Amino acid sequence: MKKISKLVLALILCVSLVGCTNGNDDTKIGYKAGTYVSSAKGMNGDVEVEVVVSDEKIESVTILSHNETPNVSDLALKQIPAKIVEFQGLGIDVISGATLTSDAVLLATEQALIEAGGDVEALKLVNETVEVKDDETLSADVVIIGAGGAGLAAAVTAHQNGSSVLVIEKMPKVGGNTILAGGALNAVDNDSETALANDDSTELHFTQTFEGGDKQGDEKLIQILVDNAWDGVEWVKELGMEFQEGTFTVLGGMWPRAHKPVEPVGTGFFTAYTNYINANENIEVILNTDVEELIVEDGVVVGIKAIGETGNNVTVNANNGVILATGGFGNNVEMREEFNTLWATLDDSILSTNHSGATGDGIALAQGVNAQLVQMENIQLLPMGDPITGSLSGNIELDVENRIFVNDQGNRFVDEGGRRDVMTSALFEQSDAHMWIVLDSHGYPTGDEVNNFNESANQLVKEGRAFKADTLEELAALINVDPTNLVNSVNGFNQAVSGETTDEFGRTLYDQPINQGPYYAAPRIPTVHHTMGGVKINTDAQVIDVDGNVIENFYAAGEVTGGIHGANRLGGNALTDILVFGRIAGINASNNQ
Ligand code: ADP
Repeated sequence: MKKISKLVLALILCVSLVGCTNGNDDTKIGYKAGTYVSSAKGMNGDVEVEVVVSDEKIESVTILSHNETPNVSDLALKQIPAKIVEFQGLGIDVISGATLTSDAVLLATEQALIEAGGDVEALKLVNETVEVKDDETLSADVVIIGAGGAGLAAAVTAHQNGSSVLVIEKMPKVGGNTILAGGALNAVDNDSETALANDDSTELHFTQTFEGGDKQGDEKLIQILVDNAWDGVEWVKELGMEFQEGTFTVLGGMWPRAHKPVEPVGTGFFTAYTNYINANENIEVILNTDVEELIVEDGVVVGIKAIGETGNNVTVNANNGVILATGGFGNNVEMREEFNTLWATLDDSILSTNHSGATGDGIALAQGVNAQLVQMENIQLLPMGDPITGSLSGNIELDVENRIFVNDQGNRFVDEGGRRDVMTSALFEQSDAHMWIVLDSHGYPTGDEVNNFNESANQLVKEGRAFKADTLEELAALINVDPTNLVNSVNGFNQAVSGETTDEFGRTLYDQPINQGPYYAAPRIPTVHHTMGGVKINTDAQVIDVDGNVIENFYAAGEVTGGIHGANRLGGNALTDILVFGRIAGINASNNQ
C-alpha cells in the first residue's frame, strides 16, 4: 500500500502545528489552551461545536447540538470532528451528500480555533491523507448498483432467497434520494378498516396513478405496483420498520392512502435494511465506489467495473444477475436540459430536492448495453422547495387537507389538493414563482410538533424560515402580503370547508377550517423532484433493449426505470415503486441461476 496526500502542500506543512512557524517570523503557532464553543449554520439551523485545545494541540472537537436530518448528516457529524483531531487541521474533505453539515462543522471549529489564537489559514492547508487501496476482483450471486431504496429492497430480498449479494454505492453512505423522501408510502390493504373508512381500493389507486400520469404509464406495471404495495409494507414491517397509525394525504397524492413512517423522512427503511445487512453474512454494501461500466459477454450482463474510494479498480462478477438501482437524474442539469420538453427551463436556476448523487449515471450505463429508454421528458417538479436550497426541509405542511398556498399578493391561485405538475405550473405563473404555505394551529397545538424532517414550527420560526402570528393580519405584515387579500383567501377557503360554497379552484380535500391562531406561513418555490422516465423494464423487472428484447441477467428498479408513472407521478408512489419493483428485481435476479 502506498500513502498519498490529497494535497502535496500538506506534507510540506507540519502534520501537527507543534513547533511550526507562521512563515513571517519566528513566532510559534499554537493555541491558548481552553474550551471554546462556536456555531455555524448547517442544513437545518445551527450546528454547535465545542473545541478543546492545549497549548500545542487540538484535543477534541465535539458536536454539542444540531438539528441536521438523522442519517443524512450522521457521517459528517461523526467523521469531520474526528478527522480534524486526527490530522490536526481544517483541510478535511466534506462528506459528499452532507456538504452543508460538513461545512458547518468546519466553520464552527474554525471560529473556535480563531478564538483560541490558532492560525486557521495554516490549519486549512493541513489535509487528510488517504491510503491507496489495491485493485480487487470480487463476486456475488447478485450485484446491485446503488444503495438507495430500490437497491436495498432488492438486496435484502435476494439474500432472503438464498443469494450472496454485493451492493456497490458511489456515495459515502446508503440512502440515495430515498432517505430524503417525504416519507409517504401509498399502499392499500383492500377491505381493511382504513381502506373502507377512506373509500379506497387498489382499483382507485390504479385509476389515480394511471390517469394522474395522463395515461402514459404502462398499465401492467401499474397493476403490479398497486397489487403488491401492501405486501411490501408488511415485508418492510417484518424487517422492523414502523409506521404511524392510519393514512394521510401527501402533496399531490390526491387521496388519504399514504402510510407515514415513524422515523423522519426515509430513514426508517435504512435502519431496517442496515440492521438486516449487519446481522447477516454474504450481504454487503461497498461504499464510495462508482460503477462506470457493465461487463457484457455474448449479450449477457455478467458484472460491473467500478472505481473505488482511492481511485483503485473494483471489478465485481455476478453469478446470477446485475440490478441497476441508481436512481434518477434530478441533479444533473445537463440531462435535465437535454430531455426536458415540459417546462420552460430546467437549467441551474431551478433547484432540486435531490441528493447530490442523483446524476443519472444508470441511464448511461444502461445505454452502454443498448437498453431502451422511455419517457425521459417526464420530469416532476414540486411547488415545495426551500427558497435557498430547493430541499423539502422547512416545509410546515403536515398534510394536504389543512393548508393553503398564497402568492406574494396574499391570493390563492390553485387547487392545493391537485396534481403536482398542475400546482407547480400554477406557481410558475405567480410573481417570482414564489408562494407561502399558510396554516393554523390545528396541526400545531403548541408549535413544537415536528414535520417530516423533524423540524418543529417554532424552530423554523426561530431560524427565520417560517413566520408565526396571532392574527392573519399580523401574519400578513410579517410576510409582506396584502392583509385584506390574505384574510379573504382564508375566508374563502373556510367557506368551502364548511360546504357553504364550492371552492373557486375546484378543491375537494379539506378537514379543518383555518381559524385557530397562532397562524403560520413559510415560503416555497418550484423544485425538481423526480425523473419519471428511464430504463424500460418488463413485469419481471428485466431490462428491455432498443429492439424490445430482454437483456439477459440485467434487471432495474426504482427511479432509474421509466414508464410506470407517466407524465406526472402521484405523490406517495415513489416509495411504493422502489419497494415493489426492488423486491421483484431482487427475487428474479436471485432465481436467475
Ligand atoms: P431509488 O429511489 O430508485 O432507490 P435512490 O436515489 O434512493 O434511488 O438510490 C440510488 C442510489 O444509487 C444512490 O445512493 C446513488 O448514490 C447510487 N448511485 C448512483 N449512481 C451510481 C453509480 N454509478 N455507482 C454506484 N452507485 C450509484
